[in-house]
Amino acid sequence: MRFEPTEIARLYGRSRVGVVVHKDLQAVYVNDAYAKMLGRRDVKDFMSEPDMRQYIPPSFHHEAAKLSEGFQESSGFHGWKKVYNIRTDGTPVWMEISDETVEWEGGSAVLTTAQMIDNGTTAMQVDHMLGRSFIGVMVHRNMTALYVNDAFAHLMGAENASTFMEKPNVLRFIPEDNRPRALKHVAAILNGERRGDRHRVRDVLDDGRAVWRDLTDERILWHDGKPAILTTAHDVREEVEMNAELIRAKASLEEAVTEVIRLVPSAVAMLDGDLKVAHFNYEFARLFGLSKQEGEDQSFEISALHECCAKMKLNGHGHSTFDEMVTPSGRLADIRMNMMEGGGVMVSATDITDHKRKEQMLDTLASTDPLTRALNRRGFEIAVSRLREIRHLKDKSWVFGLIVLDLDYFKNINDTHGHAVGDRVLEKVAETLRQALRDDDLVVRLGGEEFAVLLPSATAAVTKRIGERLANMIRAIDVPIDKDGNEVAKVTASFGATVGGEGRQKFVDLSDAMKLADEAMYEAKQNGRDCMIFKSFERDTDS
Ligand code: GH3
Ligand code: MG
Ligand code: MG
Repeated sequence: MRFEPTEIARLYGRSRVGVVVHKDLQAVYVNDAYAKMLGRRDVKDFMSEPDMRQYIPPSFHHEAAKLSEGFQESSGFHGWKKVYNIRTDGTPVWMEISDETVEWEGGSAVLTTAQMIDNGTTAMQVDHMLGRSFIGVMVHRNMTALYVNDAFAHLMGAENASTFMEKPNVLRFIPEDNRPRALKHVAAILNGERRGDRHRVRDVLDDGRAVWRDLTDERILWHDGKPAILTTAHDVREEVEMNAELIRAKASLEEAVTEVIRLVPSAVAMLDGDLKVAHFNYEFARLFGLSKQEGEDQSFEISALHECCAKMKLNGHGHSTFDEMVTPSGRLADIRMNMMEGGGVMVSATDITDHKRKEQMLDTLASTDPLTRALNRRGFEIAVSRLREIRHLKDKSWVFGLIVLDLDYFKNINDTHGHAVGDRVLEKVAETLRQALRDDDLVVRLGGEEFAVLLPSATAAVTKRIGERLANMIRAIDVPIDKDGNEVAKVTASFGATVGGEGRQKFVDLSDAMKLADEAMYEAKQNGRDCMIFKSFERDTDS
């Protein structure tokens, strides 16, 4: 069919049927009825923005473009169909349209006629689109349902849509406190004052059960020409219950953890993501707590723990142990750390102070002589090898002077004055030796009334000089025999001295040195006692 613009205006200009002629979805002619159907003031207003896509819902743009292209390439009548378009004010308009290809100014165009069906959305259309949806759908006006689908009816406890509609008032499902707010919300959407959005509500059904639903509200024009609200509803009861269950489980787990922390005998604390103390028990406060006034919150000195955390993060294992940390309380503790999910750290600390003290006491008992508190042979050997190690660590040579001394005629003291006096003499001798020597020097009771001293780094000359000094000091010892201290016991000793170690030319270990010093001491006895003999494995230059 061929058309001239003037001819079409004469034919359809005043028709009540809407007519539009368009090419590539751009209107080239429109009549007044069509312009008004789409919310335009008049033809001129419509033609000021001739793009038809503004009236087509976006999801149909592609299809509309393809159809229009196809129509332009063919000819004749393409039939009727129902569509909906969007007016300039955003409201939908339902139309029955026909499309026909016509000749237009030397080319082809599409002539579309349109008649509005009803005055907007019909129940039939909503039902057709959403009736079988698993999402609940209701159209209502001021809380009175105009339409519901089966899914919505089920959600609200009804058997089906039709039984639901016997009682179309839905305000009754809303708990009383919420009703004023809900009515205001709905009125605002109906007036177009606000757009509907998604919200979560709790409804109470006729049988008293509560349901949680996510709703969306949308303003539509109902078929009586007045606005209504299309509501979709999702049952989220399970989600809500699961959330509540999770929150409950988390709370009770936290309670249990707090209780466990309180009960364990070790110090335990949970540090949060910022490494601040989040939970702690009494024992932890005892080790790391700062003193506080009553009623004040407990604060902590945990900079050492922070350092440990940094080291643990570096090693990348997520757990670490740190032995013998000196805590702010002065107590010694072994620390364990575990990184927790979410960045926190679990800390446990075991107070090992008493344990350490006992260990040291046992160590002392095992390595010293109880009467004189001098080292015994075992303690002496351990102490010597420790000294030797330290010298090696410092990259220094290990040499020593060694003096063995045996008290002279000690049996006589026991026999004459009694064993107790003998004991006092032994104590006094040990004390004298300790006082005369430096901290690094070692004093050992080799047995009975025989002692030795080891002088680290001492040369032969120094060793001899110290030996002489010790002899003098022992000679000066007075041990009272009676209560008044008028009579005293005197004692002398025989000395054997030597030097040993790992010097430049010599290598004399402790046992060799002991043997040699012992021999020298026996020679001193032979020499009439109360004197010192020095013997050495190397040719002695400075004796
Ligand atoms: P010498 O000059 O030859 O060394 O004569 P001595 O009497 O000192 O030597 P001897 O080895 O004959 O005697 C050592 C004595 O030391 C024998 C023992 O009763 C005594 N004695 C050993 N241990 C203790 C002790 O713990 N307390 C007391 N009171 N006497 C002890
Ligand atoms: Mg003796
Ligand atoms: Mg002896």
